[in-house]
Formats: sequence, C-alpha cells, structure tokens
Amino acid sequence: ELQFIDFDTDETLEGDDNINDDSVQLKLNSIKETKESLPVFKYRTEFLKAVEDNQVVIIVGETGSGKTTQLPQYLYEAGYSKDKITGKPKIIACTQPRRVAAMSVAKRVAQEMDVPLGKKVGYTIRFEDNTNEQTIIKYMTDGMLLREFLTNPELDKYSCIMIDEAHERTLSTEIILSLLKDIILHRKDLKLLIASATINADKFSTFFNGAPIFSIPGRRFPVDIHYTKNPEANYVQAAITTIFQIHTTQELPGDILVFLTGQDEIELMELSLQEAISDLKLQNQLLVNSIYANLPAELQARIFEPTPPNCRKIILATNIAETSITIDGIKFVIDPGYVKQNVYNPVTGMESLVVVPCSRASANQRAGRAGRLGPGKCFRMYTKWSFYNELDLNPVPEILRVNLTGVVLLLLSLGVNDLLHFDFMDPPSTDSIIKSLELLYSLGALNSKGQLTKTGRIMVLFPLDAMFSKSLITSLKLGVLHDTLSILSMLSESGNLFYRPKDKREQADKTRGAFSEESGDHLTLLNIYDTWVNNGYSVQWCEDNFVQYKTLKRVRDIRNQLSSLCDKVGFKGSCQKWEGKADKNEVILRALVSGFFSNVVRLSKMGDCYRKLKRNQPLFLHPSSSMHNVKPPPKLLMYHELVLTSKEFMRNVTRVKPEWVKEFGLHYFSSKDLEFMEPMRK
Ligand code: ADP
Ligand code: MG
Repeated sequence: ELQFIDFDTDETLEGDDNINDDSVQLKLNSIKETKESLPVFKYRTEFLKAVEDNQVVIIVGETGSGKTTQLPQYLYEAGYSKDKITGKPKIIACTQPRRVAAMSVAKRVAQEMDVPLGKKVGYTIRFEDNTNEQTIIKYMTDGMLLREFLTNPELDKYSCIMIDEAHERTLSTEIILSLLKDIILHRKDLKLLIASATINADKFSTFFNGAPIFSIPGRRFPVDIHYTKNPEANYVQAAITTIFQIHTTQELPGDILVFLTGQDEIELMELSLQEAISDLKLQNQLLVNSIYANLPAELQARIFEPTPPNCRKIILATNIAETSITIDGIKFVIDPGYVKQNVYNPVTGMESLVVVPCSRASANQRAGRAGRLGPGKCFRMYTKWSFYNELDLNPVPEILRVNLTGVVLLLLSLGVNDLLHFDFMDPPSTDSIIKSLELLYSLGALNSKGQLTKTGRIMVLFPLDAMFSKSLITSLKLGVLHDTLSILSMLSESGNLFYRPKDKREQADKTRGAFSEESGDHLTLLNIYDTWVNNGYSVQWCEDNFVQYKTLKRVRDIRNQLSSLCDKVGFKGSCQKWEGKADKNEVILRALVSGFFSNVVRLSKMGDCYRKLKRNQPLFLHPSSSMHNVKPPPKLLMYHELVLTSKEFMRNVTRVKPEWVKEFGLHYFSSKDLEFMEPMRK
C-alpha cells in the first residue's frame, strides 16, 4: 500500500511569453520537420550574420532549443569547414563537459546529416577517438580540446570552436577560454562561440571584452513546483513513492525524469523500482530507463525511443539530463536536490567525491525540463524552506573546488610560467596552485626552480592524473609496465565491477572474495583483470563470477589506448612479462607508491581509523575494500581515492612498506612526517 507524500503547491516557474503552439508537437515526422521546428531555426540567418561580423559570440538559449545539434551544422552549411582563403578543409569543433553528451549529440547530428558516424561527423572523448581525416564537425569533451593545445597550440586545424555548456564552468572549459582569449588575438580567422543555458552570459561577455550576446528566445511552458511539506530522510524512497503518486493521479502521456547523483544510486533505485512495479503489476504501464556517463552506447539510444501508447517512461538520470541532453516527452520532474562533485580541500590536500545539495540555479534548470512540450510539474524531494535556505544560488565553478595538479602541469608545458597572473575567469586560490606545484615537485615533474623536468614532459603526454602518469613512468623503469598498465586501467574505469543479484548475494560475495590478494585491492584488481584475460575476455566468465562484462570491456579499451600511447611515447615493454628476480608484486606496488605516496595513511594509535602522514583527519576503509576485515589491521596503507558519505572513506587500498614511502616521498614529507616509521622497523 502506498503512503502518498504531502506536497506544497503554491509556486510556479514561469514559462516564456512567446510560445508558438504550432511549433510544438509531440509527433514530428521527418528529420527536416524536426530541425525546422527548433527555436534556433528561425534565427539561422541572424546567427550566421553575428558570427560573420564578430570573432566571439556568446549564445544563450533555453535547453533543447537546438544550440548543440544545429549551430555546428549551420556553420558547416555556411562554408566554415573550408579555409576562407586557401580552401583547405577546417574543422568545426563543439566541446561538451560530458562524454555521453559528446557521443550522443554526434550520433544525432550524423543521423540528421545522413552520414555515418566517425567520418564527416565524429566525436573524441578520452580513450576513444571516433573521427577520421574527413571529419569536419567534431564533438569532443572539453578535456580533449584542452589536451590539443599540447600538440597543436594554435589550434589551426579549426575554423570555429563552440564551447558548449559554458555555464557549467568546468575546469577544462575555463582553462580553454583563457587560452583561446590569447589565441584569437593573432588567429583572426578563428571563430569562437560560447554557448550556455540561461545563466552567466554577462560574465563571459565581460571576459571577452564585451563580446555580443546572441539570445535565442526560449520555448518553455510554466512548470508547477511542488515541495514536500516535511523533510524526507530517504530521497530515493520518496522518489519511488512520488513516481507511483504521479502515475496514479496524472494522465497519460507524460514521462517522468528523476535526477540522481550517480551510476550506483541509479542502479540501486532501478532495482527497487522494478521490484515495486512488479509487486503492483504495472509492468505493462511503466518502463524504466537510465542515463549516466558510463552507460554503454547501445543503451543510451534507448532513452530517445518514443514511449509506446498507454505507457509511461521513467528516466533515471544524473545531472547530464539537466542541460546537456534533452529527452522529449518529459512532463514530470522529480528532483531530490543533490549532485555528486569532486571537492578538493587545498588546506588538507585531500580530494573526495561528495554528494552535496545542488544549487538553486540547477534545481530550476531541472524543473524546466518538465515544461518543454506543455505545462509540467516538478516535485522537489525537499521543503521550500530548504530550497531558499540551504541551497546556494549558483554552482561553485570547478576551478575553485578541485585539485589543480593536472591543469598546472599542462599550463607549465604550454609555457605559461606565471600561473599566479594567468588570466583566469575566476582565479583559483594561491594556496591550491602552490599545493599543486609542491606535489609536482615531489613527483619529480618540476625541478627546484619550478621548471619542467624530462619526467614532467613525459607525464603530460598521458591523459591521466599526474599521480597515474608518474606510476606508469616508474613501472617502466622497474620493468613492470605490463601489470601496472592493467591496474591503472582498472582504476580509471569508474563503473561498478561486481553485481550482487538479490537471490545470490552470498554466492556473489564468496566468488568475489576468492579474487582477494593479501596485499589489498590494487593487486586484487589485477588478479580479476588477468583472470578475465586468461579466460579469453569471456562474457560467460563474467556471468559466472558476478563481474560486470561491460566494465571489464571498457577497462580493456582503456588499456589498449594507454598501451598504444606508451608505444608512441617510446615506452617499451607494455606487452612484456616480468623476468626479474625480486617479488614482482612488490615491485608493482613500489611503482604505484611512486605516484601515490601522498595518499599513504597510517593506522591511528587507537587502531580505529587511519590518518594521512601530514594531516590528522580520520579516514576509514571503504566497505567494498578487500582490506575491510583484515585482522590485525595493516599499519600503513595507500589509497586510490576518497569518498565522503557519512565518513571519509578510502576506496581501493593496499598495504605498503615504509621504505617505499621514504624512497619516493622524500621531497613531499618532512622528517617529522616520517618519524613514526622508525619504531615500526624495530
Ligand atoms: P540545446 O543544445 O539547445 O539544448 P539540442 O541541440 O541538444 O538543444 O537539442 C535539440 C533537439 O534535438 C531536442 O529537441 C532533442 O530532443 C533533439 N535530440 C538531441 N539529441 C537527440 C538524439 N540523440 N535523439 C533524438 N533526438 C535528439
Ligand atoms: Mg546543448
């Protein structure tokens, strides 16, 4: 039996005035009709004129108005894929903060232009390049464009660059904007478009010396906002209840979009929701789909399929559906009001993944998704009081809250030496720049004068965090590149590795336990990967062992990419097996410590938690760790990442030896930090 939730119902997110009802239809037949019905279509000529007359144009428009899919096509049709003087082919690029968006939009545009994906229209994301020498419209993650400055500092392959979703203020987007601001001074032929949803446009315009703002009038209907009367302790459960509440009280058609924080949460909610649907015998009426960064491409396409008649589609999405992807047919939005973010604390030098309340601007974007086709409703799983008192007005730009080590290394390799005076849109704190420089110095990427070393130059060639690339370089020196590549690839893939079917939990846990390596999670990951390889990359093996095939398949892709990069850089031995005399596993772990020494923690005196060598914050083993129940608890560990939920948890941990920490962390730790080690060595 369902206990309905009490909602407040007195607020409305206003729609736009100029709604033209003729242009809004649920069923649009041809691609041409669809294209011509989008709000941008009416402004095609004006848009092209604005680009013709200005080197930089800021474009603002409601989500779904056609910016991402149409504008690059307009530029192409207007001849921007050829150099105006020489006639040589040039690329029109469009960046996206998220890789799923880059893939899905490229696919859509290829379809609209009736060309195969990967040729004229393609996409590039980390570890996957789906373009060729014919590509003229290229969707790419902002991170990939940022890396292009290394090989092609003038970006002269490109005629137009559209920096999309600029309102998200991701780190890569902001650094690109700073770098482009410099490039356009001497590349007068390069056109720069900065596209964003409705917030922040003035800031971009000011940064680009008053560049014109081209507004595409929106087309959004009013959306009624419903807050819960009381705070909801469990928002996933509240969201499930609300789904049934909507389904039983609201007419069809009308699909439901639910905003969740990540893949784990989506998968868990999907399970409970499916259970509830089958308990209520609603399988024929409610279809559940999901969308998140790691969703395989074939499943991504499913969310765009029209909902069958007499059915309601429920889409469980991360904030990717907030502005980057538009799904037609949504009439109801359920918003728990949270988002998962990487948060870096320059004082402690710790970065962790944290679920935090989203901003009011995000919450309103989310609500707006319900008003694309007609008046909609948004159900917020929190109170009105929370909205106005606990949510920030705008999201904090990433540059102010993440670890800058990678970006600092990249800027130094581009010759930007005076980072404290670099033209950032919002300058990061001096503290966080200095912390990054310190880490790079202790990793051996910089010398004591702050100049890049040979190691630093090699490190930047890999699309990996500095700590990863350092481990990779050391593993080459120590002769364990082959295995280290596998481990780093496993760590790069954030998808779930195991699954636990409800009726076979014990068996699944047992199977999983059998992979455990005594030293900890890093070698356990290697063990899993190698066993899969030795079983011929088998799907069946994955099923038998409760391992997610799609995750391992992506690990294999990543590994292949990294290994061919190693070949390019001149690293030999990515396929070589270990032949040394020492214990190979120890050598691998040493290589890892060479990059991750700053993540070494020691058991507290009470033995109830771990603490970093430099800082005193308590850290705990993640329940998923194979080290979780080891008795007695190891004295010294290295972790891969921190996840902050009820406590600060370390995910993927391995025991390490004090001498390795001394060997590689010499420039990072003071002798006082390492004092405790002496008695440990007896
Ligand atoms: P904007 O960038 O302004 O938010 P888009 O160009 O992304 O708008 O979207 C324009 C339209 O194209 C939307 O109505 C959206 O539903 C449709 N669309 C985008 N991608 C796909 C896809 N993969 N399949 C079907 N429709 C899509
Ligand atoms: Mg878009």
